[in-house]
Amino acid sequence: MVLLNAAVAILFTTLITFSAAAASFVADDAYPSPHIASMTSCDLDDLSPIRREEYDEGRIIDITHRYRSDMPSWESDDGLGQFLWLPGSMKNGSLANNSEMKLPAHTGTHVDAPGHVYDHYFDAGFDVDTLDLHVLNGPALLVDVPRDKNITAEVMKSLNIPRGVKRVLFRTLNTDRRLMWQKPFDTSYVGFMKDGAQWLKDNTDIKLVGTDYLSVAAFDDLIPAHLVFLESREIILVEGLKLEDVKAGIYNVHCLPLRLLGAEGSPIRCILIK
Ligand SMILES: [Zn+2]
Repeated sequence: MVLLNAAVAILFTTLITFSAAAASFVADDAYPSPHIASMTSCDLDDLSPIRREEYDEGRIIDITHRYRSDMPSWESDDGLGQFLWLPGSMKNGSLANNSEMKLPAHTGTHVDAPGHVYDHYFDAGFDVDTLDLHVLNGPALLVDVPRDKNITAEVMKSLNIPRGVKRVLFRTLNTDRRLMWQKPFDTSYVGFMKDGAQWLKDNTDIKLVGTDYLSVAAFDDLIPAHLVFLESREIILVEGLKLEDVKAGIYNVHCLPLRLLGAEGSPIRCILIK
């Protein structure tokens, strides 16, 4: 989740060294289209990048959402909107293309640090750079939860997740409804209720909690459930995962946030390896 006053804008530039990368962006004034008129159709075929969800014949599965201008953004009807600009363009005489981006730190597939809902943790510096990479990388369970309710204590109990399981990705109705593919923010998404978060904390060894919309907590228990999860600073929340077409079961998960000093959230790349 993201609260307006907690939103941190990320602003940095990336060097796009290969001009073909620009071919995939929607052309507009800020992002001029490449000169394709002089190319033959054969050239264009060779220059069409392949975008994949899986690698190595399905062994590596990308569970990160692609950042798109029409992806949902917290409490916005209009989606994320433009997040990438090209102030240095080769078509305008620059020696290289240099993009600049700006977006809320809690956009798309992202991680929450303890400073997100505890201001004294924020002040003390518990940012995304302090998160434990051991928790974010290792054996993980992908489970389906009942589709007709939020994740309550009762639901958590019914999942029978064994002690010793440290990382769990919870697939919910949000995936079936393809909510991460809908531009308007939808408050009817499902997630953890406070009692579900408390049950997980008290009765399991789970330290990585992943879900499939912009908040692990249901909208009605937004702050209370976050407070339960983040109080100990041992549990890491990964939100907005892309869990379509992945079989439930055991994988190795690998999630890597950016080292954004002072940020209580960060875009994160998450993959599963069979
Ligand atoms: Zn968040």
